[in-house]
Amino acid sequence: MPSLTNQRINGARLWDTLMEIAQIGATPKGGVKRITLTETDRRGRETFQTWCEAVGLAVRYDSMGNMFARREGRDTSRPPVLFGSHLDSQPTGGKFDGALGVIAGLEVMRTLHDLDIVTEAPLELVNWTDEEGTRFGRAMMGSGVWAGLLKEADIKALKDEDGVTVGEALAAIGFEGSVPAAPFAADALFELHIEQGPILEAEEKKIGIVTGAQAQIWYEAKVTGQDSHAGTTPPVARRDALLTAARIIELVDATMREQGSTSIADPGRGTVGRLYVLPNSPNVIPGEVRFTVDFRNPSDERIAEIAATFPGKAEAIAAANGCELILKPVFRVPAQPFDADCVGLVRQAVEKLGFSSREMVSGAGHDAVHTATIIPTAMIFTPCKDGLSHNEEESILPEEAEAGTQVLFEAIVARANRQI
Ligand SMILES: [Zn+2]
Repeated sequence: MPSLTNQRINGARLWDTLMEIAQIGATPKGGVKRITLTETDRRGRETFQTWCEAVGLAVRYDSMGNMFARREGRDTSRPPVLFGSHLDSQPTGGKFDGALGVIAGLEVMRTLHDLDIVTEAPLELVNWTDEEGTRFGRAMMGSGVWAGLLKEADIKALKDEDGVTVGEALAAIGFEGSVPAAPFAADALFELHIEQGPILEAEEKKIGIVTGAQAQIWYEAKVTGQDSHAGTTPPVARRDALLTAARIIELVDATMREQGSTSIADPGRGTVGRLYVLPNSPNVIPGEVRFTVDFRNPSDERIAEIAATFPGKAEAIAAANGCELILKPVFRVPAQPFDADCVGLVRQAVEKLGFSSREMVSGAGHDAVHTATIIPTAMIFTPCKDGLSHNEEESILPEEAEAGTQVLFEAIVARANRQI
């Protein structure tokens, strides 16, 4: 087993730097608005680059604007160990979503620099472009193109509400590199992130050892009934598309709750988050309703079961209510387990440092879920207050940031120094 270090990161410097980057795009309510590929994003990137260069890192960016800050290893022929996250935010985002993983990575680099430690393998700190998906409608685009899961030309043609494309926005802020956004030989990737959920806080655990990301299946549903007069149509003659949709929404919720609904650790998720009602008039029985369905579960088997049984049950509800249902599966991803060795290094670091922890599956998508499809990957979660994220009140404690960063440090150094 690789030996772990006794070196300590600088918690005060880490916190100060987190607070400093949060000033770029700071909102009056204490949050951050640093939307991808804007002037604010540019300022964040330039500040980050300056900090990286101050500790001797060589910064480059690829054709998607993904930034890589490299520190050479003793053995330059070895592929680098990657770590990082994203500096872009939601329009009413918090200070820590993404920024924690990038600034923690910077603190790892600063600590190595201070202590004059050279790892065997090179290290590269990454700032992925547009994790949030808030401006161009596609989340995790930088890591998705890098991992070969998204086509660069398609992504670069995506437009924001003002008709500006990703390619134009990237060129405008001066971060379109000439190196193609494509996977290069990399040894592993570690991402530290706030949990964005309530489990660690509720269980008073300091670290989440993330073993993978859950499986998902999304549908677009269209219920067709008949528009008719609210005052004159008796119950027996109604074909109410909204009532039918409501009953199917109950089914979505029941399907989720079959996986348990008493503990915050229950695994199932089922959500209808978007609904269009036609004609949307107070005195007309709705003749058409369209809505989305989003099921998630750590188990591929459970998602397969839902895919096999949910459509039939939903159609039966529609038929019983005199309506027709068209249910189109629009998105399906399998559960993405993280690499056992990389997860093992995180676990080992947590045990060595004596932090309370629990193993967990990520409920949200992350850049690491993309990289996990091609290189050994693991994630580390830290608690966040009330499980709140994508919110200006998102909050963590300095000691939580420090603990997560120390675990990140140990895992990276152990991986980079392992014997191969
Ligand atoms: Zn994030």
